[in-house]
This record gives sequence, C-alpha cells and structure tokens, in this order.
Amino acid sequence: MAAALPRTRAQRRHTECVLRALETAGRATVQELHRRLRDSGDPVGLSTVYRELHRLVDVGCVREVVLPGEAVYLLPGGDLLVCDVCGRIEEAPRRRRTTAREEIEFFARTDPITLHGRCVRCGG
Ligand SMILES: [Zn+2]
Repeated sequence: MAAALPRTRAQRRHTECVLRALETAGRATVQELHRRLRDSGDPVGLSTVYRELHRLVDVGCVREVVLPGEAVYLLPGGDLLVCDVCGRIEEAPRRRRTTAREEIEFFARTDPITLHGRCVRCGG
C-alpha cells in the first residue's frame, strides 16, 4: 500500500464524524450516512462522505458489502451472510465457526468472509 499523505485537520474530523455516524447507524449506504451527518448539523458534501468511506474501506476500518444497485457500509465484524435479493445482511453465528476451527485445530488468518446468496424469505 502506498504511504498515506499527511491528512489535514478537516479530513481527520471527517473521518471521526463518518465513523461515529456509521457506529450509530450500524449499517448505511453513502446517501444514508450523508443524510445522517447533514441532519446532525454537519454541512459535509456527499462526495466527501463517499471519498472518506472508500478511504476507510481501503485501510480496513470500514467494510463494504456490494448489493444489486447499491453498496452498504458497516464496521468490521465477523463473517456475513448477504441476501442478494432483499439486501438482508446477517452476521454468521460465531460459536459454530469457533467450534469448527477447534475441531480441526486450525486458526484462520484470513479476514472475515462475506457469503452472497438468498435468504430463506427470498426462496433459499
Ligand atoms: Zn432475502
């Protein structure tokens, strides 16, 4: 990864605001996050929110889930199950994953995975 350029105070403030808004929202699209920030009195532009989110995705502080027609952003966590029909996103049960790893004595070094498919409501 290329060395990061020194960031201005305004850029650092944007980072903080975007992360805080995402923490409150749980998950959000760029537009939803932008609306949230504007509603809280932050006059930030949509392109700034977009740029900041993508920078945070690049450095691993924010996770991007691509759905048909839009992308949803959330803070990093465990494995995700994503329904490509209705956009439902569920975190995979961790206990089962931990047990499976213990049974075969294997410790994964990879990042959490995102599984795309259909939820039970959308026809499996
Ligand atoms: Zn679904």
